[in-house]
Amino acid sequence: MIEFDKVDKWYGDYHALVDVSETIARGEVVVVCGPSGSGKSTLIRTINRLEPIQSGRIVVDGKDIHGRGIDLNEFRSHIGFVFQQFNLFPHLTVIGNCTLAPIQLRGLSRAQATERAMALLERVGLANKADAFPSELSGGQQQRVAIARALAMQPPLMLFDEPTSALDPEMVGEVLLVMRDLTREGMTMVVVTHEMGFARDVADRVLFMDAGRVLERATPDDFFNRPQHPRAQQFLADIR
Ligand code: ATP
Ligand code: MG
Repeated sequence: MIEFDKVDKWYGDYHALVDVSETIARGEVVVVCGPSGSGKSTLIRTINRLEPIQSGRIVVDGKDIHGRGIDLNEFRSHIGFVFQQFNLFPHLTVIGNCTLAPIQLRGLSRAQATERAMALLERVGLANKADAFPSELSGGQQQRVAIARALAMQPPLMLFDEPTSALDPEMVGEVLLVMRDLTREGMTMVVVTHEMGFARDVADRVLFMDAGRVLERATPDDFFNRPQHPRAQQFLADIR
């Protein structure tokens, strides 16, 4: 599904991704963790080309996405991306947020898009908020709408960059619950998170990054109980 092949990324003269080679299979749930500044956001943002790379290749669903001739908008419309900040359109209602792209980019009728969106809002527990504006919702509710909005495009791949980090603690659980639910449906997911409980429970694999490198890739059981790399051991000791 996603293949990184010897990827290097620089911000000016800062080497942000160093020779990253990694394969993520369809249906896999991969949690990316590591200290602040290690390159987690950079890594995930290269997957939908929010960040350019300087060498190597990233192949998503058979397409060399940093190559020439990629229709970026079309390509991105098949990847759901949920950020730390919810980025809902403030002037649209919840249902408006969830139907805009399916109508504009997929050509759904308003009725079709509304039906699809309502089913998703039901699923994230927010059907009763369909007509509310983002400013009328809590952070956790806004983030659940952001997830529903991404899902409305029926993407085969979902990327999450610290989706719970901006939330008050009491709202973290409801968002993680929605994400857990998604993992059960075989969605391919790459999740940058500090929620190690989530990683332990639902990840198929954990990638540990430090200084732009993926230093360890392991099952959650191996990663948490038998970390191999000294930096991973240190990281786990620090967060415990
Ligand atoms: P955090 O856990 O704090 O979100 P991260 O692992 O996501 O950190 P990145 O945001 O990927 O880290 O950043 C990796 C490194 O690249 C950092 O040293 C950061 O300062 C640098 N960096 C990120 N974005 C830019 C940019 N636009 N220009 C220059 N340097 C950048
Ligand atoms: Mg980050």
